Amino acid sequence: MNKDELVLVAGAGGFIGGHLVRALRAEGFEAIRAVDQKLLADWYQSFEDVENLTLDLKDQESCRIAGRGAAVIYNLAADMGGMGFIELNKAACMLSVLINTHLLLAAEEAERFFFASSACVYNAEKQRDPNVTALKEEDAYPALPEDGYGWEKLFSERMCRHFREDFGLETRVARYHNVYGPYGTYDGGREKAPAAICRKVIAARLSGRHEIEIWGDGNQTRSFMYIDDCIKGTQMILNSDFVDPINLGSNELVSINQLVDIVEEIAGIKLKHTYNLSAPRGVNGRNSDNSLIRSAFDWEPSTRLRDGMERTYGWIYDQMVARHSIPAAV
Ligand code: NAD
Repeated sequence: MNKDELVLVAGAGGFIGGHLVRALRAEGFEAIRAVDQKLLADWYQSFEDVENLTLDLKDQESCRIAGRGAAVIYNLAADMGGMGFIELNKAACMLSVLINTHLLLAAEEAERFFFASSACVYNAEKQRDPNVTALKEEDAYPALPEDGYGWEKLFSERMCRHFREDFGLETRVARYHNVYGPYGTYDGGREKAPAAICRKVIAARLSGRHEIEIWGDGNQTRSFMYIDDCIKGTQMILNSDFVDPINLGSNELVSINQLVDIVEEIAGIKLKHTYNLSAPRGVNGRNSDNSLIRSAFDWEPSTRLRDGMERTYGWIYDQMVARHSIPAAV
Protein backbone atom coordinates (compact mmCIF):
# COMPACT_ATOMS: atom_id res chain seq x y z
CA MET A 1 0.00 0.00 0.00
CA ASN A 2 1.01 3.60 -0.51
CA LYS A 3 2.56 5.31 2.45
CA ASP A 4 0.46 8.45 1.96
CA GLU A 5 -2.82 6.56 2.30
CA LEU A 6 -4.66 6.85 5.60
CA VAL A 7 -4.16 3.98 8.08
CA LEU A 8 -6.52 3.59 11.04
CA VAL A 9 -5.23 1.83 14.14
CA ALA A 10 -8.16 1.02 16.44
CA GLY A 11 -7.02 0.31 20.00
CA ALA A 12 -3.93 2.48 19.54
CA GLY A 13 -3.82 3.36 23.23
CA GLY A 14 -3.31 -0.29 24.09
CA PHE A 15 -0.25 -2.50 24.10
CA ILE A 16 -0.15 -3.88 20.54
CA GLY A 17 -1.85 -0.85 18.95
CA GLY A 18 0.74 1.51 20.43
CA HIS A 19 3.60 -0.56 19.05
CA LEU A 20 1.91 -0.73 15.64
CA VAL A 21 1.59 3.06 15.44
CA ARG A 22 5.24 3.38 16.41
CA ALA A 23 6.26 0.92 13.67
CA LEU A 24 4.10 2.55 10.98
CA ARG A 25 5.66 5.95 11.75
CA ALA A 26 9.14 4.46 11.59
CA GLU A 27 8.32 2.91 8.21
CA GLY A 28 7.32 6.31 6.84
CA PHE A 29 3.53 6.13 6.81
CA GLU A 30 2.42 9.74 6.57
CA ALA A 31 -1.25 9.56 7.52
CA ILE A 32 -2.04 7.60 10.66
CA ARG A 33 -5.22 7.88 12.68
CA ALA A 34 -4.87 6.40 16.17
CA VAL A 35 -8.10 5.74 18.07
CA ASP A 36 -8.85 4.45 21.56
CA GLN A 37 -11.59 4.91 24.12
CA LYS A 38 -9.06 5.87 26.79
CA LEU A 39 -8.03 9.46 27.31
CA LEU A 40 -4.77 10.20 25.49
CA ALA A 41 -2.90 10.63 28.77
CA ASP A 42 -3.62 6.97 29.58
CA TRP A 43 -2.30 5.50 26.31
CA TYR A 44 0.81 3.35 26.66
CA GLN A 45 2.38 5.19 23.73
CA SER A 46 1.19 8.27 21.87
CA PHE A 47 2.77 10.39 19.16
CA GLU A 48 2.08 14.03 18.43
CA ASP A 49 2.58 13.69 14.68
CA VAL A 50 -0.38 11.35 14.18
CA GLU A 51 -4.10 12.08 14.46
CA ASN A 52 -5.13 10.87 17.93
CA LEU A 53 -8.82 10.45 18.70
CA THR A 54 -10.63 9.31 21.82
CA LEU A 55 -13.77 7.45 20.73
CA ASP A 56 -15.82 4.53 22.01
CA LEU A 57 -15.74 2.22 19.01
CA LYS A 58 -18.64 0.12 20.26
CA ASP A 59 -20.69 3.04 18.97
CA GLN A 60 -21.52 2.98 15.25
CA GLU A 61 -21.22 6.73 14.70
CA SER A 62 -17.77 6.73 16.37
CA CYS A 63 -16.66 4.02 13.96
CA ARG A 64 -17.91 6.11 11.03
CA ILE A 65 -15.77 9.02 12.24
CA ALA A 66 -12.78 6.76 12.82
CA GLY A 67 -13.09 4.98 9.47
CA ARG A 68 -13.67 8.03 7.25
CA GLY A 69 -11.12 8.03 4.44
CA ALA A 70 -9.10 5.11 5.81
CA ALA A 71 -7.54 2.84 3.18
CA VAL A 72 -6.41 0.32 5.80
CA ILE A 73 -8.00 -0.52 9.13
CA TYR A 74 -6.26 -2.48 11.86
CA ASN A 75 -8.73 -3.54 14.54
CA LEU A 76 -6.75 -4.06 17.73
CA ALA A 77 -9.44 -2.67 20.04
CA ALA A 78 -11.09 -5.07 22.47
CA ASP A 79 -12.14 -5.18 26.08
CA MET A 80 -9.70 -7.83 27.22
CA GLY A 81 -7.07 -8.97 29.64
CA GLY A 82 -5.36 -12.06 30.99
CA MET A 83 -7.07 -15.15 32.41
CA GLY A 84 -8.08 -13.32 35.58
CA PHE A 85 -10.03 -10.83 33.49
CA ILE A 86 -11.59 -12.92 30.74
CA GLU A 87 -12.86 -15.67 33.05
CA LEU A 88 -14.75 -13.13 35.15
CA ASN A 89 -15.93 -10.68 32.45
CA LYS A 90 -17.51 -12.78 29.74
CA ALA A 91 -20.26 -10.34 28.77
CA ALA A 92 -17.84 -7.41 28.61
CA CYS A 93 -15.55 -9.47 26.35
CA MET A 94 -18.44 -10.40 24.07
CA LEU A 95 -19.49 -6.77 23.73
CA SER A 96 -16.30 -6.19 21.71
CA VAL A 97 -18.30 -7.75 18.89
CA LEU A 98 -19.80 -4.28 18.49
CA ILE A 99 -16.37 -2.79 17.80
CA ASN A 100 -15.52 -5.18 14.99
CA THR A 101 -19.03 -5.10 13.53
CA HIS A 102 -19.20 -1.32 13.41
CA LEU A 103 -15.64 -1.03 12.10
CA LEU A 104 -16.43 -3.48 9.28
CA LEU A 105 -19.52 -1.44 8.43
CA ALA A 106 -17.41 1.72 8.48
CA ALA A 107 -14.82 0.22 6.14
CA GLU A 108 -16.60 1.39 2.99
CA GLU A 109 -13.55 3.20 1.65
CA ALA A 110 -11.03 0.68 2.95
CA GLU A 111 -9.04 -1.70 0.78
CA ARG A 112 -7.85 -3.88 3.64
CA PHE A 113 -9.03 -4.74 7.13
CA PHE A 114 -7.12 -6.61 9.84
CA PHE A 115 -8.75 -8.34 12.80
CA ALA A 116 -6.73 -9.45 15.84
CA SER A 117 -8.10 -12.84 16.83
CA SER A 118 -6.76 -15.15 19.49
CA ALA A 119 -5.71 -18.69 20.39
CA CYS A 120 -8.80 -18.62 22.64
CA VAL A 121 -10.87 -19.55 19.56
CA TYR A 122 -9.51 -23.10 19.66
CA ASN A 123 -11.77 -25.98 20.60
CA ALA A 124 -11.46 -26.46 24.37
CA GLU A 125 -11.46 -30.26 24.05
CA LYS A 126 -8.47 -30.14 21.71
CA GLN A 127 -6.73 -27.93 24.26
CA ARG A 128 -7.34 -30.57 26.95
CA ASP A 129 -6.35 -33.50 24.70
CA PRO A 130 -2.85 -34.71 25.71
CA ASN A 131 -2.29 -35.94 22.13
CA VAL A 132 -2.65 -32.40 20.76
CA THR A 133 0.67 -30.71 21.48
CA ALA A 134 0.17 -27.61 19.34
CA LEU A 135 -2.92 -26.04 17.86
CA LYS A 136 -3.39 -26.03 14.12
CA GLU A 137 -5.71 -23.61 12.38
CA GLU A 138 -8.29 -26.36 11.69
CA ASP A 139 -8.57 -27.08 15.45
CA ALA A 140 -10.97 -24.14 15.83
CA TYR A 141 -13.79 -26.33 14.53
CA PRO A 142 -16.13 -27.88 15.59
CA ALA A 143 -16.59 -24.67 17.55
CA LEU A 144 -16.07 -24.88 21.30
CA PRO A 145 -13.95 -21.83 22.08
CA GLU A 146 -13.14 -20.18 25.40
CA ASP A 147 -16.42 -18.97 26.85
CA GLY A 148 -17.13 -15.27 26.29
CA TYR A 149 -13.88 -13.88 24.87
CA GLY A 150 -13.20 -16.82 22.52
CA TRP A 151 -16.74 -16.89 21.16
CA GLU A 152 -16.52 -13.20 20.32
CA LYS A 153 -13.26 -13.75 18.47
CA LEU A 154 -14.56 -16.75 16.53
CA PHE A 155 -17.75 -14.94 15.53
CA SER A 156 -15.83 -11.84 14.47
CA GLU A 157 -13.37 -13.93 12.42
CA ARG A 158 -16.38 -15.39 10.64
CA MET A 159 -17.91 -11.98 10.06
CA CYS A 160 -14.62 -10.81 8.49
CA ARG A 161 -14.76 -13.79 6.14
CA HIS A 162 -18.30 -12.98 5.05
CA PHE A 163 -17.55 -9.29 4.51
CA ARG A 164 -14.76 -10.44 2.21
CA GLU A 165 -16.88 -12.99 0.36
CA ASP A 166 -20.05 -10.92 0.11
CA PHE A 167 -18.77 -7.33 -0.07
CA GLY A 168 -15.22 -7.71 -1.42
CA LEU A 169 -13.47 -6.14 1.60
CA GLU A 170 -9.97 -7.68 1.83
CA THR A 171 -10.10 -8.90 5.42
CA ARG A 172 -7.14 -10.62 7.10
CA VAL A 173 -7.16 -12.41 10.45
CA ALA A 174 -4.30 -13.45 12.74
CA ARG A 175 -4.78 -15.64 15.80
CA TYR A 176 -2.35 -14.17 18.31
CA HIS A 177 -0.88 -16.46 20.97
CA ASN A 178 0.07 -14.59 24.19
CA VAL A 179 1.91 -11.43 23.20
CA TYR A 180 4.26 -9.76 25.67
CA GLY A 181 6.72 -6.87 25.77
CA PRO A 182 7.25 -3.34 27.11
CA TYR A 183 4.50 -0.68 27.09
CA GLY A 184 1.72 -3.03 28.15
CA THR A 185 -0.45 -3.85 31.15
CA TYR A 186 1.45 -5.19 34.14
CA ASP A 187 -0.99 -4.61 37.01
CA GLY A 188 -4.64 -3.83 37.75
CA GLY A 189 -6.11 -7.26 36.92
CA ARG A 190 -5.87 -7.29 33.10
CA GLU A 191 -2.19 -8.24 32.89
CA LYS A 192 -1.04 -11.54 31.44
CA ALA A 193 1.42 -14.06 32.88
CA PRO A 194 4.76 -12.62 31.59
CA ALA A 195 4.04 -9.10 32.86
CA ALA A 196 2.41 -10.34 36.08
CA ILE A 197 5.42 -12.51 36.89
CA CYS A 198 7.84 -9.64 36.18
CA ARG A 199 5.81 -7.39 38.48
CA LYS A 200 5.73 -9.96 41.30
CA VAL A 201 9.45 -10.68 41.05
CA ILE A 202 10.28 -6.95 40.98
CA ALA A 203 8.00 -6.31 43.97
CA ALA A 204 9.75 -9.11 45.87
CA ARG A 205 13.14 -7.72 44.94
CA LEU A 206 12.27 -4.16 45.92
CA SER A 207 10.50 -5.09 49.17
CA GLY A 208 13.01 -7.73 50.27
CA ARG A 209 10.09 -10.18 50.84
CA HIS A 210 11.48 -13.02 48.79
CA GLU A 211 8.38 -15.01 47.85
CA ILE A 212 6.04 -15.25 44.89
CA GLU A 213 2.50 -16.55 44.45
CA ILE A 214 1.95 -18.57 41.26
CA TRP A 215 -1.54 -19.17 39.85
CA GLY A 216 -2.31 -22.88 39.56
CA ASP A 217 0.40 -25.50 40.06
CA GLY A 218 2.76 -23.78 37.61
CA ASN A 219 2.90 -26.82 35.34
CA GLN A 220 0.49 -25.33 32.78
CA THR A 221 2.37 -24.61 29.55
CA ARG A 222 2.20 -21.68 27.15
CA SER A 223 4.13 -20.02 24.39
CA PHE A 224 4.76 -16.28 24.39
CA MET A 225 5.40 -14.07 21.37
CA TYR A 226 7.54 -10.97 21.68
CA ILE A 227 5.84 -7.77 20.51
CA ASP A 228 8.31 -7.09 17.64
CA ASP A 229 7.42 -10.45 16.07
CA CYS A 230 3.73 -9.69 16.53
CA ILE A 231 4.01 -6.35 14.73
CA LYS A 232 6.06 -7.81 11.89
CA GLY A 233 3.68 -10.76 11.44
CA THR A 234 0.60 -8.54 11.62
CA GLN A 235 1.80 -6.31 8.78
CA MET A 236 2.97 -9.29 6.76
CA ILE A 237 -0.44 -10.96 7.02
CA LEU A 238 -2.32 -7.72 6.30
CA ASN A 239 -0.32 -7.12 3.13
CA SER A 240 -0.53 -10.71 1.90
CA ASP A 241 -3.04 -12.67 -0.14
CA PHE A 242 -3.51 -15.12 2.72
CA VAL A 243 -7.22 -14.78 3.55
CA ASP A 244 -7.87 -17.46 6.19
CA PRO A 245 -7.26 -17.03 9.93
CA ILE A 246 -3.66 -17.96 10.70
CA ASN A 247 -1.67 -18.58 13.88
CA LEU A 248 0.70 -15.81 14.88
CA GLY A 249 2.62 -17.02 17.90
CA SER A 250 5.87 -18.40 19.17
CA ASN A 251 6.29 -22.16 19.45
CA GLU A 252 8.86 -21.98 22.24
CA LEU A 253 6.83 -23.82 24.87
CA VAL A 254 7.45 -23.17 28.58
CA SER A 255 5.67 -23.98 31.80
CA ILE A 256 4.71 -21.11 34.07
CA ASN A 257 7.29 -22.45 36.56
CA GLN A 258 9.98 -22.19 33.87
CA LEU A 259 8.85 -18.65 33.07
CA VAL A 260 9.24 -17.73 36.75
CA ASP A 261 12.75 -19.26 36.71
CA ILE A 262 13.67 -17.10 33.71
CA VAL A 263 12.48 -13.92 35.41
CA GLU A 264 14.25 -14.82 38.66
CA GLU A 265 17.43 -15.33 36.68
CA ILE A 266 17.04 -11.92 34.99
CA ALA A 267 16.41 -10.31 38.39
CA GLY A 268 19.28 -12.20 39.97
CA ILE A 269 17.22 -13.58 42.87
CA LYS A 270 15.63 -16.84 43.95
CA LEU A 271 12.19 -16.70 45.56
CA LYS A 272 10.08 -19.05 47.65
CA HIS A 273 7.19 -20.25 45.45
CA THR A 274 3.66 -20.60 46.77
CA TYR A 275 0.85 -21.95 44.60
CA ASN A 276 -2.68 -20.57 44.53
CA LEU A 277 -4.67 -23.53 43.27
CA SER A 278 -7.98 -21.68 43.30
CA ALA A 279 -6.81 -18.80 41.06
CA PRO A 280 -7.77 -18.79 37.35
CA ARG A 281 -5.16 -20.82 35.52
CA GLY A 282 -6.62 -21.26 32.02
CA VAL A 283 -6.10 -24.39 29.94
CA ASN A 284 -3.39 -26.94 30.79
CA GLY A 285 -1.26 -26.52 27.72
CA ARG A 286 -1.31 -24.44 24.58
CA ASN A 287 1.26 -24.00 21.86
CA SER A 288 1.12 -22.51 18.38
CA ASP A 289 1.54 -24.91 15.47
CA ASN A 290 3.49 -22.78 13.02
CA SER A 291 3.46 -25.11 9.99
CA LEU A 292 1.04 -22.90 8.08
CA ILE A 293 2.77 -19.56 8.68
CA ARG A 294 6.13 -21.15 7.83
CA SER A 295 4.85 -22.54 4.56
CA ALA A 296 2.87 -19.43 3.59
CA PHE A 297 5.41 -16.78 4.62
CA ASP A 298 8.67 -18.64 5.08
CA TRP A 299 8.83 -16.93 8.47
CA GLU A 300 7.72 -17.42 12.08
CA PRO A 301 8.18 -15.50 15.33
CA SER A 302 11.67 -16.24 16.59
CA THR A 303 12.66 -13.85 19.39
CA ARG A 304 14.01 -16.01 22.24
CA LEU A 305 11.83 -15.83 25.33
CA ARG A 306 14.84 -15.04 27.51
CA ASP A 307 15.72 -12.01 25.33
CA GLY A 308 12.18 -10.65 25.13
CA MET A 309 11.63 -11.15 28.86
CA GLU A 310 14.78 -9.24 29.64
CA ARG A 311 13.49 -6.18 27.75
CA THR A 312 10.03 -6.54 29.29
CA TYR A 313 11.44 -6.90 32.81
CA GLY A 314 13.60 -3.80 32.31
CA TRP A 315 10.66 -1.66 31.23
CA ILE A 316 8.36 -2.84 34.07
CA TYR A 317 11.17 -2.34 36.59
CA ASP A 318 11.64 1.28 35.47
CA GLN A 319 7.87 1.90 35.63
CA MET A 320 7.57 0.48 39.13
CA VAL A 321 10.56 2.36 40.43
CA ALA A 322 9.33 5.65 38.88
CA ARG A 323 5.73 5.18 39.97
CA HIS A 324 6.53 4.42 43.58
CA SER A 325 9.58 6.69 43.76
CA ILE A 326 11.62 3.73 44.95
CA PRO A 327 15.38 4.24 44.68
CA ALA A 328 16.49 2.02 41.79
CA ALA A 329 19.53 0.84 43.73
CA VAL A 330 17.44 -1.03 46.36
P1 NAD B 1 -4.89 -3.85 25.22
O1 NAD B 1 -5.96 -4.04 26.23
O2 NAD B 1 -3.57 -3.36 25.66
O3 NAD B 1 -5.40 -2.91 24.05
C1 NAD B 1 -6.73 -2.89 23.61
C2 NAD B 1 -7.15 -1.43 23.51
O4 NAD B 1 -8.48 -1.39 23.03
C3 NAD B 1 -7.15 -0.73 24.88
O5 NAD B 1 -6.31 0.41 24.87
C4 NAD B 1 -8.60 -0.35 25.08
O6 NAD B 1 -8.77 0.91 25.73
C5 NAD B 1 -9.11 -0.31 23.65
N1 NAD B 1 -10.56 -0.45 23.62
C6 NAD B 1 -11.32 -1.34 24.29
N2 NAD B 1 -12.61 -1.10 24.06
C7 NAD B 1 -12.66 -0.04 23.20
C8 NAD B 1 -13.71 0.69 22.61
N3 NAD B 1 -14.99 0.36 22.85
N4 NAD B 1 -13.41 1.71 21.79
C9 NAD B 1 -12.11 2.07 21.56
N5 NAD B 1 -11.07 1.41 22.11
C10 NAD B 1 -11.35 0.37 22.91
O7 NAD B 1 -4.75 -5.26 24.46
P2 NAD B 1 -3.65 -5.75 23.42
O8 NAD B 1 -2.84 -6.77 24.11
O9 NAD B 1 -3.00 -4.60 22.78
O10 NAD B 1 -4.58 -6.52 22.37
C11 NAD B 1 -4.89 -6.00 21.08
C12 NAD B 1 -5.78 -7.00 20.35
O11 NAD B 1 -5.09 -8.24 20.23
C13 NAD B 1 -7.10 -7.31 21.05
O12 NAD B 1 -8.10 -7.52 20.10
C14 NAD B 1 -6.82 -8.62 21.75
O13 NAD B 1 -7.99 -9.36 21.98
C15 NAD B 1 -5.90 -9.28 20.74
N6 NAD B 1 -5.06 -10.31 21.37
C16 NAD B 1 -4.07 -9.96 22.23
C17 NAD B 1 -3.29 -10.95 22.81
C18 NAD B 1 -2.19 -10.61 23.78
O14 NAD B 1 -1.54 -11.52 24.27
N7 NAD B 1 -1.92 -9.35 24.07
C19 NAD B 1 -3.53 -12.30 22.53
C20 NAD B 1 -4.55 -12.63 21.65
C21 NAD B 1 -5.30 -11.63 21.06
